[in-house]
Formats: sequence, structure tokens, C-alpha cells
Amino acid sequence: MSHRTVHLFRKGLRLHDNPTLLAAVESSQILYPVYILDREFVTSVMHIGALRWHFLLQSLQDLQKSLCQLGSCLLVLQGEYEPVLKAHIQKWNITQVTLDAEMEPFYKEMESNIRRLGEELGFEVLSLVGHSLYDTKRILELNGGSPPLTYKKFLHILSLLGDPEVPVRNLTAEDFQDKWFTCFPAALCCARALRAALAPALGVCNRAELSFSRRCRPPDLGLAECYRVPLPVDLNIPLESLSPWKGGETEGLQRLEQHLTDQGWVAHFTKPKTIPNSLLPSTTGLSPYFSVGCLSVRTFFYRLSNIYAQAKHHSLPPVSLQGQLLWREFFYTVASATPNFTRMVGNPICLQIPWYEDAEKLHKWKTAQTGFPWIDAIMTQLQQEGWIHHLARHAVACFLTRGDLWISWEEGMKVFEEMLLDADYSINAGNWMWLSASAFFHQYTRIFCPVRFGKRTDPEGKYIRKYLPILKNFPPKYIYEPWTASEEEQKQAGCIIGQDYPFPMVNHKEVSDHNLQLMKQVREEQQRTAQLTRDDTDDPMETKVKRGHSEDVSKGKVAKVME
Ligand code: FAD
Repeated sequence: MSHRTVHLFRKGLRLHDNPTLLAAVESSQILYPVYILDREFVTSVMHIGALRWHFLLQSLQDLQKSLCQLGSCLLVLQGEYEPVLKAHIQKWNITQVTLDAEMEPFYKEMESNIRRLGEELGFEVLSLVGHSLYDTKRILELNGGSPPLTYKKFLHILSLLGDPEVPVRNLTAEDFQDKWFTCFPAALCCARALRAALAPALGVCNRAELSFSRRCRPPDLGLAECYRVPLPVDLNIPLESLSPWKGGETEGLQRLEQHLTDQGWVAHFTKPKTIPNSLLPSTTGLSPYFSVGCLSVRTFFYRLSNIYAQAKHHSLPPVSLQGQLLWREFFYTVASATPNFTRMVGNPICLQIPWYEDAEKLHKWKTAQTGFPWIDAIMTQLQQEGWIHHLARHAVACFLTRGDLWISWEEGMKVFEEMLLDADYSINAGNWMWLSASAFFHQYTRIFCPVRFGKRTDPEGKYIRKYLPILKNFPPKYIYEPWTASEEEQKQAGCIIGQDYPFPMVNHKEVSDHNLQLMKQVREEQQRTAQLTRDDTDDPMETKVKRGHSEDVSKGKVAKVME
């Protein structure tokens, strides 16, 4: 059947490897590419700060531009998604809505509401998986209906599944520009006859041009002006300092290509060897683009496979680049089938810990006033740019929770959700549980020191000097602990501790010893919960570089990396 389709973008803001959009194009005579900006919905289900709004709007703008280049356009509808969608479905006589299947409970609920609307109004709904490498339902099935709770078990299930589906072809102008339909709207009903009659007159002889049954008409381009992508100012989003990450598929693909040119770096990528306080990201920095689907993970996965195939040696999961994508997949799988995954209470895999409630301390952590320059520099980078390195996330997350402040991981997760450009329901919660040793991570006696951790990879403190310029004149020996400098030295550095920069908010040694005892007790009392996600090889910071696994890019590769 040839549908009149609304393709509803939620994530998946891209034209490459977009299986749902491609299916929409291939099954439609006319396609309305739509994004519904429902601010009430968004702010009711997530914390989203200014930088994330900017990134999203930039991504929509880029999508709009790319669709225009193909002869189509993006229509941004504003308001409550259900009535807005209903009104436009009726107005445009829609017979099909296509949308990516998503993992988050609120997006699942949205999909069921749309399906219900479909039954009421008589349109079909098509949803396909496009945001992850695998359909997590398949993984659950293969694991007997429940999620594998350790990375090792997860990789074992993947070895049964084989490699992910290969990316689908990119959309092109051909998909949207059908001369027949645009010139002769009547041709929609008797296209074949008209084609035969008019082809000679129009000089159309190319078979590809005639096979218009697979092409679809763009919406009336006049609509584009009524439904343009809003500017931040239209939404009263403050123009804070802009992040160096610019949203959009174009930028995401450029960054991807840039990384992939350095094949040696890609092949030997070993996550624990990357540096948390380098001034430019020492990892790919692609997470914001994966997060809203400006980049396809399958595209990245297969580009990596090709590089691995040409390399003599390459690193392996959990520390390789493909291994990172599999961590993403792991958290998606567990989150998709764990009740209350983003909360402690009612979450069966999460230790129930009596965390302190302390709004003042939480505020100091969030606003970079802990008095520990390493922690405060990281929180400043997060605030200003919306991205921090994985190990930097380790440092501040451990500090907030089991390390120093004993404040709930849920509080930290909310702050990250607001500020991170890559904020993701499943990955954020999964990693916060990990760092707070509430699930997945069990070497809880390892507590990061807020002074020594950063020093190892940046003894001069260049990172701190960049993000906390008030401290920039301290000599290296004081930059991580400026309170140990004498009064005279502080004066010389132009920064008096307690006046221009705070004293450390806690005595790390004392509080971390105390917290360790608390954690020991919790784990003794809740051994059964702790065991659920326990697997001693689950530490991604463990270095594992094996040799001679590079040749196979076809099925069974995941099995090989398990050896
Ligand atoms: P790379 O090292 O280049 O990895 C490539 C891709 O693999 C990433 O873009 C990401 O999609 C995926 N990936 C890497 N590490 C992980 C991981 N540990 N878990 C799951 N996927 C991973 N990542 C998010 O994308 N969103 C979040 O909300 C998020 N919250 C986090 C919270 C905490 C407390 C911690 C410790 C980590 C969190 N991470 C989150 C995971 C990780 O830190 C980021 O994915 C990574 O730093 C992004 O940088 P990159 O793209 O350069 O990663």
C-alpha cells in the first residue's frame, strides 16, 4: 500500500542508516517528516539544561537543512504531542505514522498512545529499532526472558546472536523528488497509466526515473515556513556560553570521519589508557551525537570492523571502541527490562543504601565549590561544555556518593541529565549505579582520591588552570591542594583560600574511611542483591589487549572476542 505518512522523529535525527525513515519513504506516496516539540512532555520526563536545548535545536536545524537538500523539509510542530499529532493526522489524511522504537518507559508510553490513536483514527503505526545495535528484545529472549546482568554474560548472548544488522542505505534526493507526483498530483491514483502516456512527451526514458512507485512526494514546501525549527530565543532558552559541541548529523559525521582516519589509534584504543584531563577529548567525543541519534551506532560499529579487519592487532571489549558501544548496548538491555531502573527504591538490582540528604553539600558539588580543584574543574567543564571524560565522570561520581559526600547517585544522575549533552536514560543511570557501587561494580574498596587521581595524568595541573583560572598562578605542587600553600604563597598566587576559593568541604581521608565502613555493612546485609550483577571481569578499566583477532568482520566476531 502507498501511504500518506507522518514520520515522527524523536531521536534518530539523521538521514544515514535510518531504517524507520527509509521504510517510511519506501511505503509512502507522500511523507511528512515531523518533529513535535512538546516542552511540557520533555520537562516532565527529563531534566534538560540550556546546553542540551541548544544541541537539540542545532541538530533539528541540521536535519531541516539536509532534508531541504533532498527536496523535502522538516516540520516542527509545537504543543502537546497527542492533540497536535491528532490534528495533523486528520488535516493531512494520514494513513501511517512511523517512528523509531525507543527504550525509555516514557517513549514507550508515547508509542502506545500513538498506537491507540491509530486504532481510533484508522492509521497504521510502524516502529523499528534504530538507536541501538541490537533489538534488546532478542537479547532478552535468548537469555530466557530476563536481561543478562553482567557484561560477560551479555557478550555470551551476543555471540549467539551474531553481529548486528548492517546499516541501511542513506536517503537521497531520488527518494523524495518525483517529477511525476510533483507535476501531476492526479497521477497518484492512476500513476501507471499516466506514466505510460506521458513518458514520451516528457522525454523520460530512464528506467530509474520511471520506477516512481518507490519514491515519495515531499510535503508542500510552503509548510516549512509555518513549521520552522525555533530559535533558542523563541523558547526563552538562555544564550549561555556555547558548548564546543555543535549539534547535528553533519557535524557528527565529520567528527566520526576525523577519528576514523587515524586507523592505528582506532585499532589500539584502550579506554583505561585515555586521559581524563587532556584539554581536548582523548576519547572520540561522539556520545552527544549518538545520544540524539545524529550518528548511527551501527555505522560506527561497522566502520570499526573494517579498520580492525585491516589491522594486525586490535584491542578488544571491554576496552576497545567496539567494546564501548557494547557497554552502551549492555545498559540498554538491562534498563529495558529492569523496573525502576533510574531509581533506587523498587529497583531489584540496586543496593538499598541510606544515603544522606544534604542539599547544601549537593549544591556545592554541582556548582564546583567543593574546594577540591580536580573535582571543581571537572564540574566546571561539565557546566560550560556539557561533556567530560569517562574517568572524570568516575571522579566526580565517586566523590558525590560512596567516596566523600555519601549522597544518593540519583541526585548526581539528575545533575548529569541536566548538563550532559549525551545524557541518556539507561546509560546515565547504569553508570551512576556502577560508580556508587550500587550495582555492577563490586571493588568498592577502591575509592578515588580527589587529589591524587588527576595528578597522575596531569601533574602540572593544566586542566585545572584552564577551568579554574582563579588558581592558575599556583605552582604545580599546590595546584591540586592549594590550601596547603602558605599564606604568603597564596598571596603570591593571587588567590586566598577561604576567600577567593573555598577550603575543601570535607576531610577526604576521614569521610572516605567512614563511608567505606558504611558500604561494607550495606553489602554484608544485602549480599543477594550484590551478587546479581557481580562479575569480577566486569571492570572496563582493566586493560585487555589480545592479538590476532582482526580478520573476521562477519558473523561470530563477538564470539571471538569472548575467547
Ligand atoms: P568513547 O570512549 O569514545 O566511546 C564511544 C561510545 O561508546 C560513546 O560515545 C558511548 O556511546 C559509548 N560508551 C562509552 N563508554 C560507555 C559506558 N561506560 N557506558 C555506556 N556507553 C558507553 N554516556 C552517555 O552516553 N550518556 C550518559 O548519560 C552517560 N552518563 C554517565 C554517567 C557516569 C557517572 C559515568 C561514569 C559515565 C557515563 N556515561 C554516559 C558513559 C561514558 O562516560 C560516556 O559515554 C563517554 O565518556 C562518552 O565519551 P566518548 O563518546 O568520547 O566515549
